[in-house]
Formats: sequence, structure tokens, C-alpha cells
Amino acid sequence: MKAGVLALQGAFREHREVLHALGFDAIEVRTAKQLLSLDALLLPGGESTTMTHLLRTSGMHAHLTDALRDGLPTLGTCAGLILMAKEVLDGREDQIPLGVADVTVRRNAYGRQRDSFEANLSVKGLLGGTFPGVFIRAPVIERVGPMVEVLAEHDGLPVLARQGSLWFSTFHPEISGDLRIHEAFLKEAEV
Ligand code: GLN
Repeated sequence: MKAGVLALQGAFREHREVLHALGFDAIEVRTAKQLLSLDALLLPGGESTTMTHLLRTSGMHAHLTDALRDGLPTLGTCAGLILMAKEVLDGREDQIPLGVADVTVRRNAYGRQRDSFEANLSVKGLLGGTFPGVFIRAPVIERVGPMVEVLAEHDGLPVLARQGSLWFSTFHPEISGDLRIHEAFLKEAEV
């Protein structure tokens, strides 16, 4: 199994460390060619406007869209989710997402006083207690399409969901010290 982490900007090292801790090697993906050899991909948190810009200037935008459409198992966290979304609210005008996950997300939607917070989440399919959700200038998922399965909610809003092989969260499982979401995602990607 060959996993990759999009490494244009943001918290890609943290995802690599989680993958290593789970016994997987992971390459840092910076070119369209590297996408071709992958069995699973992680899109990190960071700054979605910068990442979108770098995807376009590096010529990767269309290749990445195709790879996700063709079923490359992908987990996007926070800004990574914003990249995957069909519709982004409060984005920059030139911020064109990949448009593969049938959700509408609003950037930085928790407002200033709750820019960052932690919450214990009940995650569907994860046995044994709650998952520590770390939210950092997180987006809110305001709409989910019919093919999207919500796996966890916070305050009545979806915070972890999947659409087939695409998984996405508004929080950061890669910095919580809990490996179970990555583990569940990779287990399915391996099949
Ligand atoms: N607010 C950031 C954005 O819009 C996302 C924050 C994050 O990834 N932690 O891209």
C-alpha cells in the first residue's frame, strides 16, 4: 500500500507521522506524476486559499480532481476538506475547489471567540469511547448531498463524513494523538 500526503502547504508532516505510527510509508506529494502511483491520499489542514493557488500554478489541480473522481481513497482534513468540496462559502473569489465532495462548506465559520476549540466526538463505527476533535479555524459543513454519510456531528452539524472513498473532517485527527480515524480510513483503502 502506497500512501501520499499532499505537501504543497500546511500540516502535512503530522499526517506523515500518523501514517508512520500505523506502519505505513508515506510520500510527500508535490507533482501530478506522484499521484499516479498512490493507493491512498491525505489532504492536510492549512490554508485552503494558498493550497488552491499552488495546485493551480503547479498544474496539479485537474490531475488531482481526476484522481479523486476516479476513486483514489482520500482523507481531507479542515483545509483539505475545503479543497474537496463542491461549494465553498466565504472563500476567495479565485478559490476554485476540486468539486468532488458533494458538500457546501463555509470557511472560518466558528467565529473569532471559537476560532480554535476541542470537543469529544462520537464517531460512527469507532468502538470505545469518544474521539478528541481539535478544531482550528474550522469550516462548517452547511449542506451534504444524498451520497454523503455523516460519521460524526458537533452541535448538530456534520464534522466527519464520507462519500464512498472520500473521507473528510472539519477537525484535525492528525494532531489529536488518536490514530483511529486514519486507521479506519486506511483499512478501507487497502481492500
Ligand atoms: N481556515 C482555513 C482555511 O480556510 C482552514 C484551517 C485549517 O485547516 N486548520 O483554509
